[in-house]
Amino acid sequence: MSIEVRHISKTFGSFTALHDVSLVVPTGSLVALLGPSGSGKTTLLRIIAGLDFADAGSGPVLFHNEDVGDRPAAQRRVGFVFQHYALFRHLTVFENVAFGLRVRPRRLRPPRREIRRRVRELLGLVQLDWLADRYPSQLSGGQRQRVALARALAVEPNVLLLDEPFGALDAKVRLELRQWLRRLHDEIHVTSVFVTHDQEEALELADRVVVMNGGRIEQVGAPDEVFHEPASEFVMGFLGQVNVFHGRLEAGRVRFGELAVEVPPGEAPPGGDVRIFVRPHDWRVDRRANGEPTLQAVVCRLNAAGPHARLRLTTPAGESIDVEVPHERCRELALHVGAHVFLSPKQIKLFANGGAACGARSTIREFVTQEDRSLLATGP
Ligand code: ADP
Ligand code: MG
Repeated sequence: MSIEVRHISKTFGSFTALHDVSLVVPTGSLVALLGPSGSGKTTLLRIIAGLDFADAGSGPVLFHNEDVGDRPAAQRRVGFVFQHYALFRHLTVFENVAFGLRVRPRRLRPPRREIRRRVRELLGLVQLDWLADRYPSQLSGGQRQRVALARALAVEPNVLLLDEPFGALDAKVRLELRQWLRRLHDEIHVTSVFVTHDQEEALELADRVVVMNGGRIEQVGAPDEVFHEPASEFVMGFLGQVNVFHGRLEAGRVRFGELAVEVPPGEAPPGGDVRIFVRPHDWRVDRRANGEPTLQAVVCRLNAAGPHARLRLTTPAGESIDVEVPHERCRELALHVGAHVFLSPKQIKLFANGGAACGARSTIREFVTQEDRSLLATGP
């Protein structure tokens, strides 16, 4: 069942939590609402669920092209899993999952045997059949969220809504559960909306990612699309670490500091002042100048714990650049704290100045001047 919202706005007093948001969630897809805390993700999810209602004048909420805007949650057949949507403590795992079926009015309630069969099947699906007789206090956090998911699915919801369901779990369990949820979704294909502030979670789990910021949708796209073709500075900054520079675009080349990089036609604003974003893994690092314009810097921190070596470099102007290189390359170059290096970007992304706010972590405001260069004269 598809979900569509059109021109939804929501205000709380004088505060606008959603500004004219429109979104389509195709049948059977798993869509992530991704954004920082306070960006309106939960508000949008609650409006889809029927737990809250959009401002007067907003457009409809459609399930399978049918307006459900005035129906309360109970009539929309939505399944929820929330971070703190606790299980019933006094009921066993089995009874928690059976709950939604047992409380149905008699004429809609399946026979006991059918309830038992369905609960067993669902517990099998979330791989917890062996825990059916336990109580929630006897389960791990990850197991509890899987029970919560089975409970949500028991009533055969039209759509499944998950609000940071793994938010309270530790990193390793989160990772396992999101891979598990992806496999489960591939099996059951229930139209799902998953809220998260964790970009890795969204990029790994979802068919489509909806990036939200300040009550607006910044971009909707496949995970690789939003990552590689961010529509705004905000998206670029939110989907991973970036280094940001100010520069000028002239005659198809962008100049920043000592660097001048060719920009393919059609990929850049027409000219003038631009902001240049470089991801940490998009730098080429050398110990010698290769004849091309480079930025010079000194390694001031080197962290080799992790899949790549992470370097914090300092330019002569005292600004920081974050760089990631494969361990192998790090050894090849014999990098160490204090080493002088030459940097050139393998890939950059340009945005015209005055774009949306961005979440960049490190910024170079000044560039290497002649004087600064003399400081590097001792260099490699
Ligand atoms: P997110 O889930 O992305 O963290 P929310 O949708 O919960 O964000 O909230 C978006 C904004 O709306 C926040 O600034 C929040 O404080 C505000 N907000 C949400 N619910 C209410 C409410 N019931 N009353 C007042 N403000 C609210
Ligand atoms: Mg929220």
